[in-house]
Amino acid sequence: MTETVAFSKHSANVFFHILTQCNLTCRHCYINPTQHGNAMLPIETITAWLEFFVQKTNHANLILLGGEPTLHPQLPEAAKAARRMGYKSITIDTNGYLFHDVLNKIPPEDLDFMSFSLDGATPQTNDRIRGEGCFARCTAGIRRAVERGFHTSLIFTVSKKNIHELHRMPELLNRLGVERFFIQVIGIRGKSAGPVNDVTKDEKNGLQVDRDTWLSLIPAVAREAADLGITVTYPKVFLGDDERFECAGLVADNYFIFPNGRVYRCPLCEDYPLHSSEMNGNRLSPTGKINEQDLFGLTIPEGCVMNKLIQSGNQAYRPNGAPAYRIACCLLKEEVKARQ
Ligand code: SF4
Ligand code: SF4
Repeated sequence: MTETVAFSKHSANVFFHILTQCNLTCRHCYINPTQHGNAMLPIETITAWLEFFVQKTNHANLILLGGEPTLHPQLPEAAKAARRMGYKSITIDTNGYLFHDVLNKIPPEDLDFMSFSLDGATPQTNDRIRGEGCFARCTAGIRRAVERGFHTSLIFTVSKKNIHELHRMPELLNRLGVERFFIQVIGIRGKSAGPVNDVTKDEKNGLQVDRDTWLSLIPAVAREAADLGITVTYPKVFLGDDERFECAGLVADNYFIFPNGRVYRCPLCEDYPLHSSEMNGNRLSPTGKINEQDLFGLTIPEGCVMNKLIQSGNQAYRPNGAPAYRIACCLLKEEVKARQ
């Protein structure tokens, strides 16, 4: 059964980018060093910020990410500290290269999920987006993690460049022993927003898939994966006429933390200095106006304000000028539970 995961102020999520460095140069990376800095946070700062957020959020779900977080030699210490502090769940998002022998340094019980990113079901498609040899390294990493006893999940970021292979993912994930599948939609931010990062205007306009393609494919692939015993989460993206629009910035509790201290509540704002708070002396302080909070309350017929501002290519209009449908908050997800 497919269920919309309702927003809640009582279940917080902390997305903690502990560094922005990465060994890969994926074509559509959302990390933007001009906005997010180049720092690798020292472990003392990581643990101080973890401590602050575990208390502020009443034991949030924690996602440790980067850049590539396994490039941080003290990632195992960070995971251990988070476990000790009592975070509700702890996930590491990795590109699969698993530096610093991380699988042997983190006991599987210190993590809820080791989450891998792959953007194709074949080396041809994945490596065109993520780099030569990446498919082989990532799938080998998944196999090793499963063998070591980690629970594994996988993130697939859908664009026009790889949607033709999405239907092949359930079988691949089943073969690899992956338990959870996160389908993401590509955001027009970071490299995808070009032109500073050499993405052409045509490429940028042609990345996001249209509504009919999304609705005809994504739920069906999710059900197929669920039939194989894999729980699937995917963004709603397009709201139905009778569905309520809600902005997570107002009704949920999410923190997107970057190593330069910026803390955003909306991922679509991350390309801009619109963060509503920042870390100062290991505490969170509000930033000056105007910031993302000023946008969250704006009501427009298209749904999400930031979507309209930065990636309106996914919207369509009727002949009378009214939007043909509304775009949901990018954080609104559908979940299809594993059926086995
Ligand atoms: S692995 Fe992640 S952080 Fe690294 S380049 Fe790719 S998308 Fe960016
Ligand atoms: S994506 Fe849109 S709806 Fe969601 S938090 Fe950002 S501004 Fe609000």
